Amino acid sequence: MRGRRRYEDEPPPAKASGQAGTAELAAKWRGPAPAKPGYREQSLRLHGLICAKCAREFAPRDSHLLTVHHKDGNYKNNPPDGSNWENLCVYCHDDEHSRGL
Ligand SMILES: [Zn+2]
Ligand SMILES: [Zn+2]
Repeated sequence: MRGRRRYEDEPPPAKASGQAGTAELAAKWRGPAPAKPGYREQSLRLHGLICAKCAREFAPRDSHLLTVHHKDGNYKNNPPDGSNWENLCVYCHDDEHSRGL
């Protein structure tokens, strides 16, 4: 049993701390820049709020319990047709990564 879990396909949000002065000004005029690729939202929209494994359905307010699993394990591989994505609930996602290697 391992104490630490990590999903290789969900990197921690990059912290843009540091100098906020000019960046804030720029954001004010250009609007917020998309920090994330947004594949999670895309995948949820494509495949629906359903776990691909246990077929459990989730209400939009519970969508945080659904995660996007990358079938090939490469979170940088995000084809727009969603062929590398699989919506898994956190339990199934955990299971998916804890089996074998
Ligand atoms: Zn599930
Ligand atoms: Zn995964």
